[in-house]
Amino acid sequence: MTLKLGCIADDFTGGTDLANNLVRAGMRTVQVIGVPDAASPAPSADAVVVALKSRTAPVAEAVAQSVAAARWLRAQGAAQIYFKVCSTFDSTPQGNIGPVAEALMDELGADFVVITPAFPENGRTVFKGHLFVGDLLLSDSSMRHHPLTPMTDASLVRVMQAQLDPTRGRRVGLIDYRCVAQGAAAIVQRIDALLAEGVALAVVDALNDDDLRQLARASADLPLVVAGSGLAIGIPALHGLAGNAQAAQLPPAGGARAVVSGSCSAATNAQVAAFMAAGGAAFAVDPLQLAAGRPVVEQAMAWARPLLGRGPVLVHATAEPAAVREVQERLGADKAGALVEHALSRIAVGLAEAGVGQLIVAGGETSGACVQALGITHLRIGPQIDPGVPWCHAGAPARPTALHLALKSGNFGGTDFFTRAFEVLS
Ligand code: ADP
Repeated sequence: MTLKLGCIADDFTGGTDLANNLVRAGMRTVQVIGVPDAASPAPSADAVVVALKSRTAPVAEAVAQSVAAARWLRAQGAAQIYFKVCSTFDSTPQGNIGPVAEALMDELGADFVVITPAFPENGRTVFKGHLFVGDLLLSDSSMRHHPLTPMTDASLVRVMQAQLDPTRGRRVGLIDYRCVAQGAAAIVQRIDALLAEGVALAVVDALNDDDLRQLARASADLPLVVAGSGLAIGIPALHGLAGNAQAAQLPPAGGARAVVSGSCSAATNAQVAAFMAAGGAAFAVDPLQLAAGRPVVEQAMAWARPLLGRGPVLVHATAEPAAVREVQERLGADKAGALVEHALSRIAVGLAEAGVGQLIVAGGETSGACVQALGITHLRIGPQIDPGVPWCHAGAPARPTALHLALKSGNFGGTDFFTRAFEVLS
């Protein structure tokens, strides 16, 4: 099977979100964790997503990993590279979206790049270069309180321009909704016009799925696209593929059910509350107890073991913004995040060893930490639970028992996600 599309995701849940859209549109997709060895052959799939944990890594590290991923994907035959970023454009003033995009442009010899985090099915739309989350501008949404990447400016042209290297002089332009509505040919024309004006990157408006399909067609020959998962819905059709059940087939699931959550996003807070309100068993991990050196991981495991098999158990550090702020003021945001991620990833490993075969992890960074701790090297992407979140079958050479995983990024999923997800699998 020849590789049709090579993807680089800046976090693990973002990778599965992208893979989910490719699978639904008919591409068999495998996500590999980290950059494979130069000698590793591509898994048998139409698309491969190299999932990195580079969203909040130091810039140089994010750039180096992304370039290595692009090299490996190109060596496997990928003609186009899809750099998948968050649908809320999660980044800091230093990056990493801008620096990685520029490094990939250099690596791939790309003189023009389109950028759109739009994912209308999940309420992410781009209008006049401004990102909306539902009915709110990004900067008015709950993303302004994100623990690691607070987003306080909805103008993607401005955000992106500020992340580019000023000494390189690349400029960011806009392809607006009026142009996009005229279809692929008009978008190609606009790209040519922007290139002639010396613009090298363009944020592209997209209000609905058809806008994304037109953009996918218009950018089919570009070596690099920078997008949320939405643009992926238009790519399989360009290769003659259409949605089919086989693309999402996984081996049967077994074992006990558990949820590990380190996301403090508004949707996850609601999901944790709904799970507990419905009588679900939950254990709260307190970052201050972790910082004080208390054996919180052992306590969580002692609590969970006797409950496994009776119904899903939830272990979480999920908290409301005020509580997160208080913890961050005491410990520092990075230290609090790292402590919680480390503890939750040890708990995920403990749960898998205790017989959990169906595991939901909530939180992008949290998922990255758990997948690494579990020794997972690749994930085959299966059926969708909610937009942006599929079940996956984990490949972990060192792990004797099978594990089905769902990696849920913070703001995704309906309120009943933590119970309904298991019904989708059975
Ligand atoms: P999301 O997908 O919602 O952004 P992430 O896992 O990517 O979730 O990010 C949440 C970050 O917040 C992680 O680094 C996590 O360890 C940290 N965190 C989780 N719970 C708390 C808490 N109670 N206080 C402070 N930080 C927390």
